[in-house]
Amino acid sequence: MKRVKQNRKARIRQIDRFQLYKPFIFYSGVLCALHAAVLRSEAPSLPFAMTLLMVGLLSWGLVEYAVHRWVLHRVPRAQGFNLPGNLTHLRHHDDPQSLQRLNVQLSESLPICIAYFAAAWAISGSWPAATWLFTGLMAGYFFYEYLDFQAHHGTSGTRLIRYFRKYHNQHHHYDASVRYGVTSPLFDYLFGTFDLPTKTRRIREPLWTGRRTTGNNSAA
Ligand SMILES: [Zn+2]
Ligand SMILES: [Zn+2]
Repeated sequence: MKRVKQNRKARIRQIDRFQLYKPFIFYSGVLCALHAAVLRSEAPSLPFAMTLLMVGLLSWGLVEYAVHRWVLHRVPRAQGFNLPGNLTHLRHHDDPQSLQRLNVQLSESLPICIAYFAAAWAISGSWPAATWLFTGLMAGYFFYEYLDFQAHHGTSGTRLIRYFRKYHNQHHHYDASVRYGVTSPLFDYLFGTFDLPTKTRRIREPLWTGRRTTGNNSAA
């Protein structure tokens, strides 16, 4: 374990910090601008705003699960259009420790954010309410990026991080058709993808072939 930590520390020193922090900087700026506008309008009461924040945070778990399972793990087309993030996520499975893919690209997350904000505005009928829902979603997204980094590159040894690191690495190295949740196992429970298969197996082929072989297992 100590050696793994040392290897990770050496690798972390090579990381492009701007690429690593880019989504946090960008979306923090967006949130600051939105909340500055909310303060100048008819802002929701504090209890209502906190309720919206929690609903937004909970909705992140569903967005994360749905996008991960049904968008990022789609069988890609050999030619033509593929959904944003589909190919880069499958490449992330090919090489989870690559320093080229440290987080979700803005071109992949922006369409989801815009669609979410538009839907939240349409459902709530209020853009300040949509802003608080979106803030909750972003809190979940930031936590997701932090946990994915910790799973593949980080050295934090707290009990919480160790739990999520193991959980996410079981999706990567044990069976990519279970454990889609990164920030919460809740939707894996609800959609029946929490349990690990009893047969020990490792993925030896690209994920989209749908054909996996059984072999000796030493999953993380
Ligand atoms: Zn990952
Ligand atoms: Zn995946």
